[in-house]
This record gives sequence, structure tokens and C-alpha cells, in this order.
Amino acid sequence: MTDVIHLLPDHVANQIAAGEVVQRPASVIKELLENAIDANASTIQVYIKEAGKILISVIDDGSGMSITDSRLSFERHATSKIKAAEDLFQLQTKGFRGEALASIAAIAHVELKTRREEDEVGTCIKIEGSQITSQEVCVTAKGTSISVKNLFYNIPARRNFLKSDTVETRHIIDEFQRVALAHPGISFSLVHNTGELFNLPASNYRQRITNILGGKSNEKLVPVNEETEILKISGFVGKPEYAKRTRGEQFFFVNDRFIKSPYLNHAVSAAFEGLLKDRAYPSYFLYLHVDPKSIDINIHPTKTEIKFDDEHALYAILRSAIKHSLGQFNVAPILDFERDPNLDTPYNYENKRASTPQVEVDRSFNPFKNEALTSSNYKSNFKKESSSWESLYTGLQSETIGNDIDVRQIEFESEEVTGNLFGASNTEETQSSTFQLNKKFIISTLKNGMLVIDQHRAHTRILYEELLKSITVSAAVSQQLLFPLVLQFNQQETELLKGIKDSLEQTGFIFSEITANSAEIIGIPTSISESEVEMLLEQLLVDFQNEVPENNFSHTDLLAKSLAKSMAVKSGNLLNATEQQHIVNGLFACKEPSLTPFNKPVFITLPVEELEKKFM
Ligand code: ADP
Ligand code: MG
Repeated sequence: MTDVIHLLPDHVANQIAAGEVVQRPASVIKELLENAIDANASTIQVYIKEAGKILISVIDDGSGMSITDSRLSFERHATSKIKAAEDLFQLQTKGFRGEALASIAAIAHVELKTRREEDEVGTCIKIEGSQITSQEVCVTAKGTSISVKNLFYNIPARRNFLKSDTVETRHIIDEFQRVALAHPGISFSLVHNTGELFNLPASNYRQRITNILGGKSNEKLVPVNEETEILKISGFVGKPEYAKRTRGEQFFFVNDRFIKSPYLNHAVSAAFEGLLKDRAYPSYFLYLHVDPKSIDINIHPTKTEIKFDDEHALYAILRSAIKHSLGQFNVAPILDFERDPNLDTPYNYENKRASTPQVEVDRSFNPFKNEALTSSNYKSNFKKESSSWESLYTGLQSETIGNDIDVRQIEFESEEVTGNLFGASNTEETQSSTFQLNKKFIISTLKNGMLVIDQHRAHTRILYEELLKSITVSAAVSQQLLFPLVLQFNQQETELLKGIKDSLEQTGFIFSEITANSAEIIGIPTSISESEVEMLLEQLLVDFQNEVPENNFSHTDLLAKSLAKSMAVKSGNLLNATEQQHIVNGLFACKEPSLTPFNKPVFITLPVEELEKKFM
């Protein structure tokens, strides 16, 4: 037999590599922006047409390239940024693989114009599917301008796989924001078709964040600064009361590179512990600087993951730095739950130097043993105020009881569940034919069996059908707010909001005004409280951004689904007998009680025969 192995031609190899590097128009934007930054640009302009599917153009005023370099830049593994393997451990640049331009040129029509400051004329190169079609001398400004047209023109499967313009534009905006947030000293602009989406002047971190997020984001930011031997942290966290329903505003930058790190994210969440409402995510913009030797970014071609040498130490430093900031800016009322309120400095001592307080904690203290209240140790250290009680619980929960027993659980169960079981005072509860299991399921009886209902799913189904009805048939009632509620949004969000305003008003919302970056609300549906409105609308906007409805019908459906999901009672919520009954009755009055609007089962039944089988 003859030999069968041969080397792939360059253009095929490039096309394969392109699959890794370029997933969508946003990946091209990221690579081109990073090249411009590596070239020390101070102004970078981005133009896109039809979400980058037709044209992506990035213009910088950076170093530019010589004639030879501009030609070489399209070769695979051609880079000016590293020379030897050791350089990988002291990277100061974004790029280093020398793959991006070669990959992009393999799957699009690319035009490059570039000139160095010292050269009188520049170079223009046209390249299609890795083949150079023209190279000539041309007049062009200092710096580099690259236009990428008809992305994936030679890979129809990839091209068809692209999402709607709205979704692809979102991805582009995400990448653009990440790069712009990491480099506030560079001015950036982004123009889509003919509309300017961003125009960001060179500034500092705080201004850059505010310019991108818009509205009153400035007042929401709490600065975080810490410098240790292994790590320098600067940046901001959002005040807890502005925590979002989604993870949209969470940014880590390591050595000016956006990264994702579930582990460090956990450190931030841990610092916010006890300060956030249920299912809210803190905003953060954290810039970490570490020795390039201590990280390895060579993990994935799209480079958002990173490996640190000493992750545990980073975790601890990050968490304590954020805790400290939240405390300093009076955001967290009591950060140290074990602190004795008696030790708070009286006002006349305020100006004197304080000695380190000694905190004593009685580790054998048991809050359920009434006798313990008289123990001298307890008396001397804690007041009988409710605030100290809370701190006691919190301290104990993490200190002595650990993961085995949840103090709050005991408290609730002893009042409610056992009350039910043993026929306590509340007659209504004892007569009910339902009860709640694990604060998640409602158990009810059938004629010949048992019914287990998921409370959140059931309530979602009920609300969904109610909302559909009010949007399409008869408007729901609304409650007037005493004071108008003004919520801040960015321009994209208010555009969306205007589009769904009419349908939202059918559900009970009343908007008095929607401007470019805020919405004023004077009425809300009767079934929700004012404090829930912001979260609800935020979630709604996210849902609309992620899943763009094609027509009117799916538009209404998406609205009802999103609101129902957010408004429905969560698992973990204790329901009294009336509430349980309400859900069971409401569910079986629905057209489709067995499934949620997201096609998940709502309840299961357990017939008596099955039960009997289990006892055999
Ligand atoms: P990498 O960035 O990993 O080096 P690229 O394929 O992105 O690989 O770019 C190849 C080379 O082309 C870079 O190393 C750089 O020398 C040059 N280059 C690319 N874009 C620019 C630009 N905007 N300005 C100046 N030089 C550039
Ligand atoms: Mg590059």
C-alpha cells in the first residue's frame, strides 16, 4: 500500500484553525480590537453592518506595519509579540498566537490599510480565502484599518448557523464592552449601520463604567482597592441594593484581560453574603493585576479562562477586600456578626485611639435551651435585643452547627410543620387537605392516591394563563403608586421597553414616561409589590434580549412566560394552608395544568396501588 499521510495545504489548515478562533462576528471584533490595543492605539473606531455579517471594520491610530510585516501578518503563527517559549510566561500583550489574521483571512474578504508614522506611504492588501488578490502602495492615515466583509462566505454551514442580527449585535456589544472596560485610557466608538451605539472618550475606570452603563451607575459603585505582594486589586462593586437579577454586570479583568472565573466569582458572592435579596447577583468591575509569571492564559484560543498559581490566596484577598469596602462605605450594616454590640465605641471616645477589642464567644451556647439565657457568660456578652439574637444565630450557624442543621429551618418547622402535625391552635390549618413538604412541594390527596405538586411550577402555570388572558382579552387591574417609581435603564433597554409597553400595560403596569435612559412607573399589577418591580422588569428585558420574538403571538407569549416565572412563588417559601389551597385550586382551573409554560411537569400522582406495592 502507498503512504496515505500528507500535509494539509495552508488555506485548508487556516480554515480549520478559523473554526476555533472565529465563531461569530463578535470573535472578529475581539481579535481586531486586541490587535489595535497591542499596537498602542489611542483611538479605536468600529463600524459594523448588519450585525457584522456584511462588514466589520476596525480603524486604529496605532503603530501600523511595514510592507513586509503587513504581508506576513496574514501567515499562520506569524506574530511580533513573542519570540521564544519563555515569553509565554511574561506576556504583556493580548495576542501571541499569530492566528487571528490568518484565520479571519481564510473565511472572509479582508482589506488591510496600514502605515507607520515614519513611512510616507502605506500598504493596502486585499485577501480572500487566504489568497492575496492585490497588494499596493496607498495613501492612508497613520495606523491600521482592517475591513472584514462577508464573514463565512465560503463556509455556508457556519453562515447559516449565525443567529438573528439582534443576537449577534448583542454578542458584539458584549465583546466591545469588555475590551472598552479594560482600557479606559483608549477612546472607543461603535457604529452599527448608521447608528452610533457607543462613543467613549478616554477617561478613568469609574467614568468608563458609567459611560457604558449609562444612567446613574456612578452612585451605585463602591470602590475596592487592595495591594498585596501577589495581587493588586482595583475597581468597583455595585451596592447591594442595586444587585441585578442576572449576571450581566459581572466583570473580572486580569492584567487588563477580561476573564471568567467561577471560583473568584464565588469569592465576591461570599463577600456579599447576607446583603443580597434572594437570587440577586452583585455587579462588579474588578481589575486584578498579578505577576504574569503566576498565570497561564494559554488554555483556550478564545482566552477567557485563566489558571492562577495561587488561587486560594487570591480568593481570600479578594473576599476580604470587598468585605472591607462594603463595610467602609457603610453599605453593610453589621459585617462582623460575631461582634459584641456592647463594644461599640461611645461617642466621647470616638476621637481617642481604640485598643483592639477582645471578642468572646461562648461556643457551647445553645439558643434553644432557655436556661442558658441565665448563664453568666451569656449575660455579660450579649443583650437580649433582637439584633443580638440575629447575630447569635448567624454566628452559630457557621461556627458550631455548620452544615448539618439550618437554624432557621428548625425555627420554621417547629412553629409551622409540627403545629400542623399535632393539631395546634389554628383550626383552618388542621382542617386543610394539603400540606407543604420541604417548602417546595404541596402534597394533596386524590380520591385514590396522592398528588405531589411543585409549588413554583404550579404558580408559574397559573400566572402564565392569567397574564395571557389579561394581555389578549381584558386588561388586568392595577394599583396606583403613591410616588412614581423611576427606574434607570440603558438605551437598548428603554428601546425594548417601548416596544412592549402596550402589552405590559395590559398586565397592570402604567408607565407615565419612558426616556432614553429611564422609565417612570405610576401603576403596577395588584399581584406584585413595588419592591419587586425592578427585578421583574430587568428579568423581562434580559429574556427579550436573549430570545427575540418573531411575531406578535410569540411576543405576548414570551412576556407572559417571563413575568409568570419571576412573579411565581419560589421554592423555599413557606406557604400557609390558604395559600396552598389557592395554588391547588388555581392549578386545576388552568387549561393545561400538567405542564409549565416551559414544558416541565408540574405535578406527579402516586396511586394507592403503587403505595400498597411498596408495603408488600
Ligand atoms: P497575534 O496578535 O497573536 O500576534 P494576529 O494574527 O492577530 O496575531 O496578528 C499578527 C501580527 O500582525 C501581530 O503580531 C502584529 O504584529 C500585526 N498586527 C495585527 N494587527 C495590527 C494592528 N492593528 N496594528 C499593527 N500591527 C498589527
Ligand atoms: Mg491578535
